[in-house]
Amino acid sequence: MMINLIRLASVVNQVKKCSLQKNHVKLKNQIYLMCWRSMSAVRGNRKSAEDDLQLELVSEQDNQDVHDYEELVHKMHLLPDAGHQVAILQPFVKWGPKKNLLTTPDLMLEEAKALVDSLPNWKCVDAIKVPVESLEKKTIFGSGQFESLQKNIVANPNISAVFVSTNVLRGIQRRELMMAFGVPVFDRYSVVLQIFKDRARTREAKLQVAFAEIPYLRSSLVGLQKGTKNNLPVENTSRGSKGGSGESFCDSQLHLLDRREIKIKKELEKLAKKRTLLKCERKKREFPVVAIVGYTNCGKTTLIKSLTGDSKITPRDALFATLDVTVHGMKLPCNLTVLLVDTVGFISNIPVNLIAAFNSTLRDAIDADVLVHLQDISHPDVENQVATVKVTLEQLNIDSTKTVIQVANKIDKMSSEKLDDYSDLHISAKDGTGLEELVDLIQTKVLEITNRRYLRLMVLSGGTEYSWLHKEATVVKYSNTKDPQYLALDVLVTPSTFGKLRSNFPDIRVLNKQ
Ligand code: GDP
Ligand code: MG
Repeated sequence: MMINLIRLASVVNQVKKCSLQKNHVKLKNQIYLMCWRSMSAVRGNRKSAEDDLQLELVSEQDNQDVHDYEELVHKMHLLPDAGHQVAILQPFVKWGPKKNLLTTPDLMLEEAKALVDSLPNWKCVDAIKVPVESLEKKTIFGSGQFESLQKNIVANPNISAVFVSTNVLRGIQRRELMMAFGVPVFDRYSVVLQIFKDRARTREAKLQVAFAEIPYLRSSLVGLQKGTKNNLPVENTSRGSKGGSGESFCDSQLHLLDRREIKIKKELEKLAKKRTLLKCERKKREFPVVAIVGYTNCGKTTLIKSLTGDSKITPRDALFATLDVTVHGMKLPCNLTVLLVDTVGFISNIPVNLIAAFNSTLRDAIDADVLVHLQDISHPDVENQVATVKVTLEQLNIDSTKTVIQVANKIDKMSSEKLDDYSDLHISAKDGTGLEELVDLIQTKVLEITNRRYLRLMVLSGGTEYSWLHKEATVVKYSNTKDPQYLALDVLVTPSTFGKLRSNFPDIRVLNKQ
């Protein structure tokens, strides 16, 4: 009996170890179930063993889904690590209401190149501006243009992918272009997704990127399905994970996406709850929050590094170097600690839901007491960048009455006559110019917005008021008074602390005017 049990246990373990190859999962589960049943019958505790097994089967479905999902992502060419030699097509509307007046086709093309260059192993091998009437056509481009683009791309063996630098292609547009060019076709949404994938470090960032990827995959699949009736330009396989009989490959993939979406959403909600708890803790201590927002690469991380002197922060000359919202403490001249929040950068011409995928992390910025909108004034496209950030903030439902300080950065790269006058301040996060003024302005706004009062109080040195104030208020400075037993204490108090002060110490002498 004992030997039988040991044998059985070893079979169970071997089955357990057998790799998760796609078609073997169902079979594996069945063998596993049989083994468990026999083993549990031998042990006499079949019920609880089956319960355990049920749990394992659920997680195996998840494992299978993760595996299938990765396979789908691979087939849809949404893996950044593969590397590509990219031909960039920059369409621009020649005239009419859809024409972008804030930027130029050259600047748009420059940014498209910067996006491609910011991915490891991706290289731009060709870049063309293409005037179009609108971006709605099935192939985007006019028929003559389209034919000549197709001829050039097909004839150039160096091109392994095409990047059509527009917001987001409809599934059907993507399919048409892929069929015509014979290589994977990307739009701004998918390229930025690749960059996000490459940069995501924490579990939350990774989940948020995956969450933004699912709707994109879904619309691509639907577009492909519509155009091809199941004859996808991605490999069509019949697999163990396929849904019930008669279900097409596309349908089974759509179900897979639904399951992944639910799973990821749940995990994100769990993480968001944790974040809310942290935020409550922070609120309890009443640290005001200052969020730095701005176009990608405008210098947000550099500014936080300069303001906090945190040597661990490493700014990078790369688009979207910061994906995780990070929080850093800074003491204001009045001794009050504020939390500086570094955020994901914004970029023009991608759907706001890609940035909004970072909603729970961006909430830190959205809920901040003060926003600093940093602008790279040395950038030729600064006007368009500033407008993009403003629109994105609006779309993220940031309260329009929120205090926003407009700050022009990188003035060290400018001659003084070129400085604009639409910012509140000009600074260089790199060499420190203007940072003192910025900190003063942040202080003024923070005190204003959080209703903190500035009080000068006459306090018995070492008395109960003295220690209470040290605990409850922000002590800015002490000075001697004529009476050596008393000190003048300059403090900052929140409205609630002010109320407590009044009720606990009604006789305390306030020296400054209220
Ligand atoms: P972020 O994407 O907004 O966080 O930008 P980073 O802080 O990572 O900075 C992007 C690039 O701009 C880096 O190469 C920085 O060194 C550079 N940079 C940031 N601030 C300044 C500045 O005031 N002057 C100059 N010349 N370069 C700056
Ligand atoms: Mg950054």
